[in-house]
Amino acid sequence: MASTAIPAARERLRVAIQKSGRLADPARALLAACGLAWREDRDRLFCHGEGAPIDLLLVRDDDIPGLIADGACDLGVVGRNVLREQAVATRGATPAIRELRALGFGACRLALAVPEEWPWQGAAQLGGRRIATSYPALLRAWLADNAIEAEVVVLSGSVEIAPRLGQADAVCDLVSSGATLAANRLKPVCDILASEAVLAGPAARFDDARADLADMLLRRLDGVLRIRDSKLLLFQASRDALARLLPLLPDAEPPTICAIDGGDTLALQSLCHGAVTWQRLEELKRAGACGLMVLPIERMLA
Ligand code: ATP
Ligand code: MG
Repeated sequence: MASTAIPAARERLRVAIQKSGRLADPARALLAACGLAWREDRDRLFCHGEGAPIDLLLVRDDDIPGLIADGACDLGVVGRNVLREQAVATRGATPAIRELRALGFGACRLALAVPEEWPWQGAAQLGGRRIATSYPALLRAWLADNAIEAEVVVLSGSVEIAPRLGQADAVCDLVSSGATLAANRLKPVCDILASEAVLAGPAARFDDARADLADMLLRRLDGVLRIRDSKLLLFQASRDALARLLPLLPDAEPPTICAIDGGDTLALQSLCHGAVTWQRLEELKRAGACGLMVLPIERMLA
């Protein structure tokens, strides 16, 4: 019988992303912004990279750290919460996986939450209580660090309803807006981990063609992440206005400055990493800038 297994291709890089869910679309969009494109496969589990030899594997997010540890894929986009939970749970038992880059989407926090009516006096209050979570390794590590003895109730989903069902007294769950907790009459009281989507990969460098491909992907990612909220600001000013203008650009790279008009008028160009609002432009104008222009940045290679 012919094997349907996808052979390990050391000259290609395989990146795992979530098949569907919160991280699926932003992960694809980010990789596409790095210039990657794929041929969609009918089963949508494996997408062959076109142009660059970088393929996609579409899986459940929980599987990503294990797939990297097994060498079934080389890199993965996954929430820090999942990566750290599995790292703590399997400490020493699997090859080390590193967070290579924080990707700036999928922000949430792993937080302890208690019923709204509890007067919260501090973490010691959790002693002897039952805490429901899908992150038992991270919760146990936090309890141990804080010298709290509590019972950890492991649930694979619907954690926030556990107190109302009488399964637990408190929960340790992912929170972004807090609306789900509020809907279940719970209040967040303590953060255990600040999370976002990260690019994960083996701690050791690849020793074949994948090393150059991974470097290329990281270089492009850095370019995309660096300019994500950045704008190019162009303006002119007289030389003596410079000392007033530069403090108004604390989030900008040192500007490129050219002298025009025989030397007293300067043309400035600066990469701003924060929002360049109308208010900021007006402040710059009042401080002596003119001809202000804000340009989007499409690509950058440092
Ligand atoms: P899968 O089917 O792939 O296992 P899932 O249900 O485990 O999906 P999602 O709910 O899509 O996963 O969440 C994926 C990741 O999104 C989480 O691990 C976390 O890093 C991030 N995230 C951001 N905000 C939230 C939130 N409010 N609740 C849960 N996860 C969030
Ligand atoms: Mg999952």
